Amino acid sequence: MIDLNRRGLVLAAGGALAASAVGSSVWAAAPERKLGYAIVGLGGYGLGIIIPQFKNCQHSKLVAVVSGDPVKAKKVAAEYGVPETGIYDYNNYDSIKNNPDIDIVYVCLPVSMHAEYTIRAAKAGKHVLCEKPMALSSAECESMIAACKQAGKKLMIGYRCHFEPYNLEARRRARAGEIGKLRYFRSEHGFNFNNPTAWRLKKAMSGGGSLMDMGIYALQAARYMTAEEPISVYARETTDKSDPRFREVEDMIEFQLEFPSGVIASCMSMYSANQNHILLMGDKGRIELEPGTSYNGNRLWVGNGRSNEITPPPGPGATQWAGQLDHMAQCVIQDRQPIVAGEEGLRDMRIIEAIYKSAREQKRIALR
Ligand code: NAD
Repeated sequence: MIDLNRRGLVLAAGGALAASAVGSSVWAAAPERKLGYAIVGLGGYGLGIIIPQFKNCQHSKLVAVVSGDPVKAKKVAAEYGVPETGIYDYNNYDSIKNNPDIDIVYVCLPVSMHAEYTIRAAKAGKHVLCEKPMALSSAECESMIAACKQAGKKLMIGYRCHFEPYNLEARRRARAGEIGKLRYFRSEHGFNFNNPTAWRLKKAMSGGGSLMDMGIYALQAARYMTAEEPISVYARETTDKSDPRFREVEDMIEFQLEFPSGVIASCMSMYSANQNHILLMGDKGRIELEPGTSYNGNRLWVGNGRSNEITPPPGPGATQWAGQLDHMAQCVIQDRQPIVAGEEGLRDMRIIEAIYKSAREQKRIALR
């Protein structure tokens, strides 16, 4: 597959992720009208991270909020200039169909609610940006894709690292052959999770533990850095079941992905220590990010060891979130497929299911 990056260089790469051009021309045009977003779920991510980002956007604006807490919704609406008519709750959510100001619904809810709120948005005639992981299962992912297709609406997954300058630069350099032939990939992601009542530790709401929440960054990075699709997985889970946090979901899981070129990706996620690291080893050097997928403060080294630290060029947006929000808006305006469409979330979910199966059955699982 031939792919153009922002500097007009031709990148040759295989695999589905190669289609997610590192800064393709989708960011080029500057339409007059800003598209309106409704944020569903005013929690840590929806309210804490996403809503404040609209001030950094060129093509996106906040026009509605959906929350089960009317006092909070009113306060947030007042603070961010959302009109009273843009305040919804989970019961009257379907009436967003009557609000022409809402173009895109951004689902920032617990994972178990992603499918329902995506499908209801599509039925209300809205495009959808849905947070990661896409859903509880690949079957749910398929139903979300089908609903958006049937409604003629776009579906994008909140994989913000595709708009994050350090990841884009690492990927560009890997593909440009700066470390020679890629042989090995490693990534560890996790944090010390200390809220035992959180939905993330309830399997019915999260679908799983650290893999669904953090391991998905390692999986994504393995795929977008190599531009290949894994052909098999082998996984092992290590969880202290006497720890009350981990009665329902896994703490630590290690998984190895085998790629057609022979590259092995060794990934790990956990809820009992802080980790955020990506390493690519080629036969001529290394590319390393640590932290690699944080909100801020990512660092990148290229060469041998950590003597050559790189400052990447700016990404497609003022911030990774502005890049993400504006990309979706521009895809709607230009009728283009988002670089991280629903199909991308589905691919990850199928691999995650195979990882869990491998850990359960303690054997290698072929992916195709
Ligand atoms: P959170 O717990 O902070 O917020 C969840 C929101 O959903 C809250 O406003 C809560 O009131 C609401 N909600 C509605 N019904 C609920 C119910 N039955 N139980 C619990 N909450 C309910 O979670 P979060 O950290 O904001 O995560 C939301 C989504 O965003 C998740 O899919 C998560 O994976 C994703 N996320 C993505 C990133 C990223 O960097 N891309 C970072 C954090 C979270």
